[in-house]
Amino acid sequence: MQRCYVGLGSNLSQPQRQLQDALAAMGSTPGIRLLRCSSFYRSAPVGPGDQPDYINAVAELETALAPHELLDRLQQIESDQGRERDVRWGARTLDLDILLFGQDTLDTPRLQVPHPRMGERNFVLLPLAELAPALVLPTGESLAALLRQCPSNRLEKL
Ligand code: ATP
Ligand code: CA
Ligand code: CA
Repeated sequence: MQRCYVGLGSNLSQPQRQLQDALAAMGSTPGIRLLRCSSFYRSAPVGPGDQPDYINAVAELETALAPHELLDRLQQIESDQGRERDVRWGARTLDLDILLFGQDTLDTPRLQVPHPRMGERNFVLLPLAELAPALVLPTGESLAALLRQCPSNRLEKL
C-alpha cells in the first residue's frame, strides 16, 4: 500500500459538487482507500482566456494500485464527470492530478511524480499542508520550504 496525495480542481458545472462526486468515486474504487480530504478552497484561474474561479482541494489516500493504474482510474473519473480535453489549462469540470505517490519519483511521458508544477501553486500546497504539514518530498525539499517560495495568488479557504 502506498500513501498518495491527489489534487482536485473544477471550475465548471457546480465545482463543489464535482469535487464531492470525485471523492466518492475514488473512495468506492477497489484498491483505493480514501483517508481524508482538505478543506475546499476558491482560487483564481490560471490558464488562457476568461475562466471562472476554481474550487480546489487535496485528498489523501492509500492505494494498492500501481501509479499508472491510479492515473488510469483518475482519468476515467474525469471523463465520467464530463471532462473534455481541448485547450491546455482551459476550463474543466474535473481535474485530478497525482501530486505524490509515496516517496516515488516517476518521469515517464504519461506520468511525472511528484507533480512537476505543484511548487508554483498555492492552491495545491496550502490544502496539502493541512493534511501533512511536516511532509518532505522525495527530492528532499520540505513542504514548508516550498510554501515559503510559492507565489501567493488569490486563494480563499471555504
Ligand atoms: P497541469 O499538469 O499543469 O496541472 P492539467 O492538469 O490541465 O495541467 P491535463 O490536461 O489534465 O493537464 O493532463 C495532461 C497529461 O498530464 C495527462 O494526460 C497525463 O498523462 C499527464 N500527467 C503527467 N503527470 C501527471 C500527474 N502527476 N498527474 C496527472 N496527470 C499527469
Ligand atoms: Ca492540473
Ligand atoms: Ca491533470
